[in-house]
Amino acid sequence: MPIEIVFDQGFGDLFVTRIAGNVTTPEINGSLEFGALVLGAKVLFVLGHTNCGAVTAAVKADDVPGQISSLFYHIRPAVRAAKGDVAAAVKENVRNQMDVLREASPVIARLVRQGKLVVAGGVYDLATGKVTPVET
Ligand SMILES: [Zn+2]
Repeated sequence: MPIEIVFDQGFGDLFVTRIAGNVTTPEINGSLEFGALVLGAKVLFVLGHTNCGAVTAAVKADDVPGQISSLFYHIRPAVRAAKGDVAAAVKENVRNQMDVLREASPVIARLVRQGKLVVAGGVYDLATGKVTPVET
């Protein structure tokens, strides 16, 4: 999905990192810290989406090829909280990753405390193109 169009922004106006399952890893954290601290992003938005393949795979917990299963570790807490419901797990995963960002990154935590950065999240509906906010 073209993120600039979803949020009605011009190309280059958003600093975007993409990762299957919208999980936070050290590399993603580092990129987001760069976007916020160096480039001055004011909002850090975790965007999940309906029918997410990564979340669905984590719910099924079947064997998957290569390193795809490395994503499951990050998604599993949401799967447990949602008791295996994919739609609920997508939403819960957005909430969890928002929490992880606030807690795992001292840079992001400080910017939030200083009122310079807002961490928010939502779920993009592939069918309607609408983003539903996820509250923490
Ligand atoms: Zn997905």
